[in-house]
Amino acid sequence: MKCQLCLSEAKLCKSHIIPEFFYKPMYDDKGRMLIVPLDAEEKIRYAQQGEKEELLCASCEQHINDFEKHVNRVFFHKFAYEPTEQPGEGLIVELDYTKFKLFQLSVLWRASVSTLPTYAQVNLGPHEEQIRQMIINRTPGPPHQYGCVVTGLETGTDIPFDLILQPRRGRWDGHVAYRFVFGHCIWIYVISSHSRTHSRADYFVRKDGTMRFRIMHLKDVGFIVDELKRVSQRDDLP
Ligand SMILES: [Zn+2]
Repeated sequence: MKCQLCLSEAKLCKSHIIPEFFYKPMYDDKGRMLIVPLDAEEKIRYAQQGEKEELLCASCEQHINDFEKHVNRVFFHKFAYEPTEQPGEGLIVELDYTKFKLFQLSVLWRASVSTLPTYAQVNLGPHEEQIRQMIINRTPGPPHQYGCVVTGLETGTDIPFDLILQPRRGRWDGHVAYRFVFGHCIWIYVISSHSRTHSRADYFVRKDGTMRFRIMHLKDVGFIVDELKRVSQRDDLP
């Protein structure tokens, strides 16, 4: 089998598309998370781990793990941020630009090479090869090259709640964009040659290790409200 990242013939690992540590907050006390299929005909089920697929050799798994370790630390252990003058905004500091940017790209790229139905809308075309080279060569490029805008999600309650949604392709501010939801955040990647001119280009992670981010309440995010409504209307909810 051919590793999708280094392209060599090797025994492949079952690789996550979205790292397992982002699934962890969704497990109940029995170690299960609820999966609600988009297809209303398909039954709601439980899973005990995030979706995986044979994509990478062991050495490429390690290569990407280095970026993931940094992001795990930032999200779950040492979140450093400063409030800004803008209401509903913050500035994450102390990021490792190379690792954070390549982590972002690795999720997008894995979703694009994946054959799992969940990631059907992510298809990077010619950008897939360019991003593969950036990942394997550890070259994150300038901030606007495949920049990603991150918005933190607030629930407004102490009840633990997290969700991962199927990534979608769409347009944002005239640019092709892919939207992911995981880790209490919305991640929107801008895929275009003139991303420098995007209205939110100032929110892409910067080389000095800072990143502006907005914070929104779940109930103010239309597409999440719609998803939650769709789920609540199912009659097979446990
Ligand atoms: Zn490999």
